[in-house]
Amino acid sequence: MLAEIKGLNEECGIFGIWGHEEAATLTYYGLHSLQHRGQEGAGIVVGGNGTLQFHKGLGLVTEVFSRGELEQLTGMAAIGHVRYSTAGGGGYTNVQPLLFRSQGGSLALAHNGNLVNADELRFRLEQQGSIFQTTSDTEVLAHLIKRSDEPILKERIKEALTHLRGAFAFLILTETEMYIALDPHGFRPLSLGRLGEAYVVASETCAFDVIGATYEREVEPGELIMINKQGVRSERFAPRVARSICSMEYIYFARPDSNVDGINIHTARKNLGKRLAFEAPVEADVVTGVPDSSISVAIGYAEATCIPYELGLIKNRYVGRTFIQPSQSLREQGVKMKLSPVRGVVAGKRVVMVDDSIVRGTTSKRIVRMLREAGATEVHVRISSPPITHPCFYGIDTSTKEELIAANHTIEQIRQLIEADSLAFLSPEGLLQAIGRPNDSVNCGQCLACFTGQYPTKIGGEHVGTCVQTSWCEY
Ligand code: SF4
Repeated sequence: MLAEIKGLNEECGIFGIWGHEEAATLTYYGLHSLQHRGQEGAGIVVGGNGTLQFHKGLGLVTEVFSRGELEQLTGMAAIGHVRYSTAGGGGYTNVQPLLFRSQGGSLALAHNGNLVNADELRFRLEQQGSIFQTTSDTEVLAHLIKRSDEPILKERIKEALTHLRGAFAFLILTETEMYIALDPHGFRPLSLGRLGEAYVVASETCAFDVIGATYEREVEPGELIMINKQGVRSERFAPRVARSICSMEYIYFARPDSNVDGINIHTARKNLGKRLAFEAPVEADVVTGVPDSSISVAIGYAEATCIPYELGLIKNRYVGRTFIQPSQSLREQGVKMKLSPVRGVVAGKRVVMVDDSIVRGTTSKRIVRMLREAGATEVHVRISSPPITHPCFYGIDTSTKEELIAANHTIEQIRQLIEADSLAFLSPEGLLQAIGRPNDSVNCGQCLACFTGQYPTKIGGEHVGTCVQTSWCEY
């Protein structure tokens, strides 16, 4: 689907490798496969051999790096980042990895997620004398590490991580070591793999496939992994709590060929479609999905209802980054450029149009109109997530509550606004069952806060909810 033009934006993607002569080039390929998670900027820092070198810039990975720039980045370890700015805004200085040089040694940071107490920590650190280079929440960690009284870097990092609240998957590279950390709730996915003798880490497993690496395991929530020439060491910086992995990773963000915490995304989305068909069947002639993320859902819906799946909407892949267009009218122009109905498929037909979410409603309305203009006699909209009624504080740009159509309208009002013949959303229970998280007390949890308002962490000093568990979860 076209989340970037309807107000639901990706967060970031991170990739790291330790122990390979082509570390920078492999990171480039890894970042390229994670490009869907952020298109505003990209960067790579290489190290592990006594120095840290970096290159970063605004734009897509292929725009930021040329062959010559990659050849300059020599070192057997690297971390990389693709960015969509959710905290601190855009601009070159906020493009990651962030690199900090000081007397005690240099350190580079790449972060996926959003810290909910970054402002509070920043205020305190500034009062103590810290001067920030960026407006990114990520920089807070570097200052906390620097100010820690612990004698060795690993302990300083562990101590610093305990001050952070919210969603974070961090990669830290020094001249001699790489560190990997995931927040205690595990909001964001982070997987470990191997490429020969080298260690790799990535936001999504599709980054392993592109470089021929094999998947080893997930980074555990609250885990700190240290890799250096002596080997790998895993420690905890926080006790285990129930997992709160982001539901939107399964619904929209991750690539269909990735496995997120052991669950294949295409399969999860097909199951969402099947469950949606069970909860909201309708008489129709064809099922179509809004590309890309809703195609798997539409296939599942079609399979379960025995209504043929057809490619009723085509995405123009060569439009470019319309997401930087700021105004609503330009965003709507972007919809026309990016999506086209297939007249021969939808003309004279009752169409089920499957999408993953409705944020402001303007994109859905435009697609419904587009299908009608192409000859569809009825358009039934089916959404593979519950209504988004609350903002996300964990790294997904879901707009403010005022902009969220479902926060201020009933489902019938939304149906009328988007001009659909019928409209149905998946239930939260259906979402949990279809994704099918593991049946154990610690790992089964899933964040549903943007659908329920039950936030798994304190927001602005208040604890407003708990992690939503799957129905079979005992805790
Ligand atoms: S609030 Fe929604 S988008 Fe944000 S982490 Fe939770 S499930 Fe994901």
